[in-house]
Amino acid sequence: MYLYNSVSHKKELFVPNNPDLVKMYTCGPTVYHYAHIGNLRSYIMEDVLEKALRYVGYNVKRVMNITDVGHLASDADTGEDKMVKGAKRENKTVMDIARFYTEAFKADCEKLNIKWPDVVEPATNCIDEYIHMVQTLLEKGNAYFAGGNVYFDTSTLEKYYVFNDHNEEDLDVGVREGVEEDTNKRNKNDFVLWFTKSKFEDQALKWDSPWGVGYPGWHIECSCISMKHLGEDLDIHAGGIDNAFPHHTNEIAQSESYLGHKWCNYWFHVHHLNTEGGKMSKSKGEFLTVSLLESKGYDPMVYRLFCLQSHYRRNLVFSWENLDNAKTAYDKLIAKIATFKNEGEVDAEALAKLQEKFLNALNGDLNTSLAITAVYDVLKAKVGDATKLAALADFDKVLSLNLIEAAEALAKKQAEEEAANADPEIDALVAARTEAKKAKNWAEADRIRDELKERGIEIIDTPQGAKWRKV
Ligand code: AMP
Ligand code: ZN
Repeated sequence: MYLYNSVSHKKELFVPNNPDLVKMYTCGPTVYHYAHIGNLRSYIMEDVLEKALRYVGYNVKRVMNITDVGHLASDADTGEDKMVKGAKRENKTVMDIARFYTEAFKADCEKLNIKWPDVVEPATNCIDEYIHMVQTLLEKGNAYFAGGNVYFDTSTLEKYYVFNDHNEEDLDVGVREGVEEDTNKRNKNDFVLWFTKSKFEDQALKWDSPWGVGYPGWHIECSCISMKHLGEDLDIHAGGIDNAFPHHTNEIAQSESYLGHKWCNYWFHVHHLNTEGGKMSKSKGEFLTVSLLESKGYDPMVYRLFCLQSHYRRNLVFSWENLDNAKTAYDKLIAKIATFKNEGEVDAEALAKLQEKFLNALNGDLNTSLAITAVYDVLKAKVGDATKLAALADFDKVLSLNLIEAAEALAKKQAEEEAANADPEIDALVAARTEAKKAKNWAEADRIRDELKERGIEIIDTPQGAKWRKV
């Protein structure tokens, strides 16, 4: 499989450290509010990546954190802790907020057929691991204590900006408008590993540490949670593109300084879902959630298809019109599959041919839009229904669009509707008319037709024989 690696800016052949187990880490949500459908685009594409790896034959262990402490309003360690903000907004405790929105996120994942990772660890579970890493970084001279906090010293690195050759002046993450500059920092992009001199009196969660009572910075959690469950070598680290800097850049800085060797080989970044007005956010305009889409009559699978129709490295623009197009496509797709009868033998050779295009699409940097065209190829293929259904069930291991389940449910509903409308007396009259016509007894045939018409029944003559419907 070829995957684009954000570090090398190239598509690279994916080769895991251990061919028997791919180790994958994904940054989880900050659980201070519902996830918006932009966040969920990232999780859908990461889910497709995991399933594609499994589809091509790898075993995968995927780990994800839940950020329930330390993620401040600005990614540059300034502003209020997002969790505290959420708790204040709802007049609840931070832990209540964390529990509630973790469950809400889990429910969204279920609705969107996003597999829950093998390990999901809340950040507040791993305080000892953070303290150990911070202590080691201090001992190694990669960190310093200033003004009550522990900072990572970015000047100790040979190369800090691993993803892009950023212009230091443009970045200035610590000196945004309206945000006080942290004068404890030796270098502009040094970041906090551990806060003890909290600027926020109402910080809810604090722990004892060698540097005083405090709480961890945001970045340290991903390094430690990944190492706790996946060891010192990571194959793939995934997240939304906004996480590349500073979050992932800082994760690499501290992890590799701590380990003394390379940490992660492939960096997979999902580009943003934007609204027509620009960046999607939780505070601006309509807060787009899966529940909101459902309340407007969209099956979550429609949103999943909408995401799969475009490549993960392209920005995707959300509009209701675009979503309507995905809905039309999904409904048509399911209606077509519902007409297939699971009868006859699967043609193994034909199936392999259909699978080839699908596999090539996945292997070419997870080209999901091409994978969807492989689905349409199946619908058009000159093969029996059993082979088509086998191919679709196989592709859906990765796409997870409920292709078979939704089609079966639709076929069942249609059969039930037909059964509910069944009327043996009318069937008998229609049959009698057919017999009369055969016997060239036109008067009798017309009489029956008129009698049915009076009862509100219209006869439709089709190549398969006469059918009827209520008018
Ligand atoms: P957060 O809950 O803010 O920590 O974000 C959760 C995930 O969503 C991260 O991987 C972000 O990079 C990603 N993300 C945030 N905004 C968007 C967006 N508009 N489109 C796609 N992914 C996003
Ligand atoms: Zn992370």
